[in-house]
Amino acid sequence: MKELTLDQWIGLRSGLEEKLSPERLAAWQLQKLKAQARYAVTHSRFWRQFYTGVDLEQPESWPLLDQDTLRSAGMDMLCLPQREIQRVSTLLSSGSSGLPKRLYFSQDDLELSIDFFAYGMATLTQPGDRVWIAMNGPAADSLGDLLARGLRRMGRKPLIYGEIADLQQARAAVRKEHPHCLVGLSRQMLALCRETPELRPRTVLLSAENVPEALRREIQNTWQTEVYAHWGMRETGLGGAVECSAHAGYHIRHGDLFLEIIDPESGERLPLGQRGELVISTLNRQAMPLLRYRSGDFAELLGGSCPCGSSLIRLGYVEGHEK
Ligand SMILES: [Zn+2]
Repeated sequence: MKELTLDQWIGLRSGLEEKLSPERLAAWQLQKLKAQARYAVTHSRFWRQFYTGVDLEQPESWPLLDQDTLRSAGMDMLCLPQREIQRVSTLLSSGSSGLPKRLYFSQDDLELSIDFFAYGMATLTQPGDRVWIAMNGPAADSLGDLLARGLRRMGRKPLIYGEIADLQQARAAVRKEHPHCLVGLSRQMLALCRETPELRPRTVLLSAENVPEALRREIQNTWQTEVYAHWGMRETGLGGAVECSAHAGYHIRHGDLFLEIIDPESGERLPLGQRGELVISTLNRQAMPLLRYRSGDFAELLGGSCPCGSSLIRLGYVEGHEK
């Protein structure tokens, strides 16, 4: 696969190519969002009921979907027959309903995540790099597996270790590999960094957790490395947004996700730069589209240009949700 920046990739995905601009992207996303809603209402029992009487031409008027509703709707949210579901991701968690949160993905849904991982990881790795993945894996369609498939397409060499349970074991394993890049959870990477100060990978990607500034600095200083942060959640198909080397916010997977920030009390949409609850809509999801889903994360959207040259909206610092 060709090396593209995330913006070039979004340009290709949207068909806007060199005409890509924040305004044109917003117009394209609006069309995609409305098409996703029409698809959801046509194919799923839940959405048909939930959106009864809703004007599909007015996304700002669409009711918000909260986590408990998602849990209790269960398979009624599916837009595909079960035989076409490739992966079910289940979180047995503490929502007030006590029901597990289940997310369903088709083969094509997972393919879009792999595509984002391929181009996203290209910003912090080089062809031929060995990338050590200390994330859930290596089972088929696990996060580690999807990330590894994206990396291979870009000519990188993924090494899936899995989440770190035993620090001494992880230390022995990573020392043998001496990777160029490490991918892992913030606290696990910090613990590994303290155990192996001599390791010094060129880059580190911290994912799926908050990245506190002090933690980032300690890893950077100890390993003399460049730390990148990624934001994503199971609901976004794991991949969501990733920093560039300017570290001035996260570049969003705009081809597949439409993000809004709302006032958590009133539900009103907030302007760029204001912090509030992050609301997620998918644009291309087949198995289980999400429309105006309250993520439980808090963040802001950033306008203006990134020092890397991109003028597309970025995601600011994200404060956490339960995983
Ligand atoms: Zn940038």
